[in-house]
Amino acid sequence: MPLRRLWAVTAAVLCALAGLLLGPVQPAGAATSGAALAAAPNFKAPYPCGQKWTYSHHSAEVRRALDFVRADGGTTNGTPVLASAAGTAYRHFQADGAGNYISIEHGGGWRTYYFHLSAFSVPDGAQVAQGRQIGTTGSTGNSSGPHIHYEQLYNGVGQDIRINGGALAYPGGYHQYYLTSDNDCGGAGTPFTTWGSGVRVRADARLASPVVATLPGPTGVRVLCQKQGDTVNAEGYTNNWWSKLRDQNGFVSNIYIDHPASQLPGVPLC
Ligand SMILES: [Zn+2]
Repeated sequence: MPLRRLWAVTAAVLCALAGLLLGPVQPAGAATSGAALAAAPNFKAPYPCGQKWTYSHHSAEVRRALDFVRADGGTTNGTPVLASAAGTAYRHFQADGAGNYISIEHGGGWRTYYFHLSAFSVPDGAQVAQGRQIGTTGSTGNSSGPHIHYEQLYNGVGQDIRINGGALAYPGGYHQYYLTSDNDCGGAGTPFTTWGSGVRVRADARLASPVVATLPGPTGVRVLCQKQGDTVNAEGYTNNWWSKLRDQNGFVSNIYIDHPASQLPGVPLC
């Protein structure tokens, strides 16, 4: 469809301009050490489970970005944009470039970027779980058509984008490569919010188990299952139920899950 094609090309060019306005262009295809890659989050597609999108990259694109448009008959505009991994989400706005955009700090030097949103879905500084909606796809800023401009940066340098551990291609146009999302699919767990600060997530439901993550403040989490373990006395509560958190891959005492029941309703046993 010629019109669609022209639209895509125009969007791509404007997207490049948007990137140029953002600041210094990083070298393309920056090398990343094996250790950094090994420590990278298991990034997932930035759009809902089961949706098929196509992606492209053009020579003037910055920071190894890829632009995504929907290719399964659904409408790109207005589709939820999802966090591709857990982290802290920050809102930004650049009228003549990226438009409304979100950056997510994942820890370990890793960040992802999502440009041209029509709306934000989380407050600035929100802790988000993988698969959490962070915005709505749009065409704000210097963009002539709805798409998600998506980037993965390590220590501020754009990396070749990897989804589920596999590197994506960098085609010069749409409809050469496709990616179907498995972000937030079944088995995603039940969403809850934690409370308290410095809450430790452990490898098992035992107080002596190693700490695998620490939740700095109220955090959106996905609880996969729960089981009984060591009894915890904290914050005026006593509870021996623990929840297994999907994104942190460990257990937290149910005391720190923001729900009045000691055993969470609707959550299976581990
Ligand atoms: Zn772009």
